Amino acid sequence: MTGDWFDEELHPELRQGLKIDRVLYQSGDGLQDLVVFENPRFGRVLCLDGVVQTTEGDEFVYHEMMTHVPILAHGRAQDVLIVGGGDGGMAREVLKHQAVRPVMVEIDPDVVEFSKQHLPSLSNGAFDDPRLELVIADGCTFMKETEKRFDVIIVDSTDPIGPGEVLFTAEFYADCKSRLKPGGVIVTQNGVPFVQPDEVTNSWRRLGRSFQDVHFYLAAVPTYQGGDMAFGWASDDASLRRQPVETIEARFEAAGIETRYYTPELHVASFALPKTVRDLLR
Ligand code: SAM
Repeated sequence: MTGDWFDEELHPELRQGLKIDRVLYQSGDGLQDLVVFENPRFGRVLCLDGVVQTTEGDEFVYHEMMTHVPILAHGRAQDVLIVGGGDGGMAREVLKHQAVRPVMVEIDPDVVEFSKQHLPSLSNGAFDDPRLELVIADGCTFMKETEKRFDVIIVDSTDPIGPGEVLFTAEFYADCKSRLKPGGVIVTQNGVPFVQPDEVTNSWRRLGRSFQDVHFYLAAVPTYQGGDMAFGWASDDASLRRQPVETIEARFEAAGIETRYYTPELHVASFALPKTVRDLLR
């Protein structure tokens, strides 16, 4: 941070500056450097190891698209696993589906604790919901050891640097496959293709070793700099991501949930990839 600006240096050739009105929390003595500050446009901003993780102003785009797309595509999801997601936004959206019993595996307890305190609007009570099972562990280790099986796995990790790196490996994806029930699907935070093209190509190859159908879907999250963000999608049933909008619409109505970004039409359209992204799937 320089003066009253936060400079994100995730990319060597590109910087993102966010004005700091007030620093609410800063700590460098845990597993990850944590900063929460207030920005005039995006509200409270959470950064880990110098990278923007989520903001009050645009988090709903990311959390709604990474939960309602796989859960409504699946249609009968009950057991959902969130890997990462320490701020609680993913759990908040998953818990909108009444039949779901989510497990959340987060490596850094500090992220959970200070998100409850400084970013309460993200979890919005999710951590107090009796349906949520919170496990503090490395998602990679958990995936190797758990006896549980899941309908949907959501990998809401940091970028492939630091503790998040293990969550982008072919080995981790193979372990995810072994923990999915038949008909299950995994979705992953997969970076911004325009500035992190290798993340898409790498996930395409690594997921492809364990799953028959690998694809991506897109949404624009303003503070994930560089254009549309990609979400990795993998299952053994290609029809899961090709359902007609009428099917998704009926499930969305039956779920009776409120959203700010997600719509059934957008769900279906988000799987349409521009050539720039399709060319990365090689
Ligand atoms: N939306 C953000 C993004 O796209 O980069 C991710 C938000 S969430 C805060 C990322 C979470 O992943 C953090 O809480 C971090 O502690 C957690 N995490 C990183 N590596 C992990 C691992 N190996 N196992 C479990 N959680 C991990």
